[in-house]
Amino acid sequence: MTKLEEMLGSARSLVILGHVNPDGDCAGSCLAMYNYAEKYNPELYVRLYLQPVPDKFSYLKGYDRIGSEVCQEEPFDLCICLDCSDRERLGEFGVYLESAGRSLCIDHHVTNQGYAGENVIAPGASSTCEVLYDQLDQSLIDQDIAACLYTGIIHDTGVFRYSSTSARTMEIAGKLMEKGIDFTGIIDDTFFRKTYLQSQILGRALMESIRFLDGRCIFTVVKKQDMTFYGVGPKDLDGIVDHLRTIEGVECAIFMYETDSHMYKVSMRSNHIVDVSRIASYFGGGGHVRAAGCTMSGSVHDVVNNLSGHIEKQLL
Ligand code: 5GP
Ligand code: MN
Repeated sequence: MTKLEEMLGSARSLVILGHVNPDGDCAGSCLAMYNYAEKYNPELYVRLYLQPVPDKFSYLKGYDRIGSEVCQEEPFDLCICLDCSDRERLGEFGVYLESAGRSLCIDHHVTNQGYAGENVIAPGASSTCEVLYDQLDQSLIDQDIAACLYTGIIHDTGVFRYSSTSARTMEIAGKLMEKGIDFTGIIDDTFFRKTYLQSQILGRALMESIRFLDGRCIFTVVKKQDMTFYGVGPKDLDGIVDHLRTIEGVECAIFMYETDSHMYKVSMRSNHIVDVSRIASYFGGGGHVRAAGCTMSGSVHDVVNNLSGHIEKQLL
């Protein structure tokens, strides 16, 4: 029996939480957990709370059941946190963790220090969905649950390209495909499909990118006024950093967008050498060795200079 099955068995109420600004792995793992608990624990009162999930994920079963605002609830017996590396990243829904009788965190972030009562953290795993798969009774994974898990794996591996993709990842993906999911649709419609405006801002961000440290690093920035001009929000900027990372000669890519005056949300990616999670952690963020993020203040010049110092130390 896995830790999850053990804890699920004795609970009467369950709340499921993920990280702020939910991505495919967060939404996928939370909805897989939600559907599994609803289907196989009919006596259990189950709630899922997340900040707004992009509507491209609305094909996932349970999407319309996600609570998006903190509500008055009796303390839950059990709180399960998925894909969330620290307490703060639960955002406003962290109150449910505080009041819950017991808690379990299932995650794959190397920076996760184990903030819940019980923690199943596999920093080598491609995605939280991969970790969750091993916690579920695999014979009970139906097509809806499989679609949720597959979505998470696709998004956190960049469609099986990132170095976190292992033979085990592919094995699990294969098992999920056998459940009859629309695997090409999931990949095309949620990972590659971009609106015209998303494509335009991607093009502009690439055009304005600047290389430094002999072309081994590259950065680009999207200002608030650019987002207003194109009529896009932060979620429309997904994937820009990944384009920068694949440019020939680039070891480390930085993408940033302005959240407030002199405040930037920073995304970093590396290919072989730089541990970006160390740099992000230093600036109060976190993530993985090859993909991490943080929020930084100052001018664009200050932010890039600060990051550049840390990157250069690792490159030497
Ligand atoms: P992204 O650059 O795609 O936003 O995030 C890359 C990875 O870094 C994700 O696994 C994400 O959870 C993590 N990450 C991004 N921003 C932050 C942050 O501000 N704090 C923490 N702890 N992790 C972050
Ligand atoms: Mn993840």
